[in-house]
Amino acid sequence: MIDLRSDTVTRPTEAMRAAMANAEVGDDVFGDDPSINLLQDTVAERLGKEAALFVSSGTQSNLVALLAHCQRGDEYIAGDMAHAYRWEGGGGAVFGGIQPQPVPMHADGLPDPDTIDSSVKPDDHHFARTKLLCLENTKDGHVQSVDRMREATLVGRKHNLSIHLDGARMWNGVVNLGISAQEFTSEFDTVSMCLSKGLGAPVGSVLSGPADIIHEAHKWRKMSGGAMRQAGVLAAAGLHALDNHVDRLADDHANAARLAEGLGNIDGITVVDQATNMVFIEVDGDEPALQDQLLERGIRTVITPTPRRSLARLVCHLDVSTDDVETAINAFAELAAG
Ligand SMILES: *Cc1c(COP(=O)(O)O)cnc(C)c1O
Repeated sequence: MIDLRSDTVTRPTEAMRAAMANAEVGDDVFGDDPSINLLQDTVAERLGKEAALFVSSGTQSNLVALLAHCQRGDEYIAGDMAHAYRWEGGGGAVFGGIQPQPVPMHADGLPDPDTIDSSVKPDDHHFARTKLLCLENTKDGHVQSVDRMREATLVGRKHNLSIHLDGARMWNGVVNLGISAQEFTSEFDTVSMCLSKGLGAPVGSVLSGPADIIHEAHKWRKMSGGAMRQAGVLAAAGLHALDNHVDRLADDHANAARLAEGLGNIDGITVVDQATNMVFIEVDGDEPALQDQLLERGIRTVITPTPRRSLARLVCHLDVSTDDVETAINAFAELAAG
């Protein structure tokens, strides 16, 4: 099966499973799990932050970051299509009484600096207190350069906001720009990254930042039910991924570019967008059967029919080979011709 639905569908490799099987573990609630401690130290060091915290998911990572930065009645600014605003169930409001201030974003996912500037509320009793700016990189595969991110973070600094990066797929950005993770994240107080997406680990994210904020986040992780015991087996998968699956993200980016090129040559298919490991396409016509027809050929996708065209996001990852990309292109071509 060639699964193009997401980069979250990867299964642990044999080498990753061996690392997990051999992981030294302890009770992390006592701070005793050497594999978790090593993962947290490794991430903090690679990002140049004081401390880091292993958490269950990207959603929990963004949530405990929000709760650590903001008090009840504070607000955070985020893009109106940002994951941390739109796709995380409003957790900051539910658990923290924290109000989001969504703002429009450019095509690369960055909110306009002037919009950020005018969205910061004056210090006045009418308003929620603007406390945090939350950016996302990569966004739908798009990479914002360090200079681009700085245009936004400088505005945040001018207003004394704390600044968080939802870097669920930050490693795709790091590899794409050819810079260090430390440089990529240098403008941010806290950074969330997922081990369970392109890096190919089965579970987990890491939040990093200043020691006092990570200390608070640790408390919120406990309260939100995220304290884990011998989770070093999971941390070992994350460590293995950080050591072995970062540079190879370039292969996913090349595969996605090839997929976009191949699909773009097929009548009836329009490639709307391609960046890093993601390809967005439109297929002419309402194609309710296409997803099933692809599945019959061993290609798993999510194709959303709309009245005039069908839309899909196709994602390349560790379990999609260059040959798989050719197989997928051929399947789309056959079905489009039929
Ligand atoms: C996937 C994702 C998350 C959430 O991660 P989960 O592990 O699915 O909770 C957060 N932010 C971004 C940008 C993501 O892509």
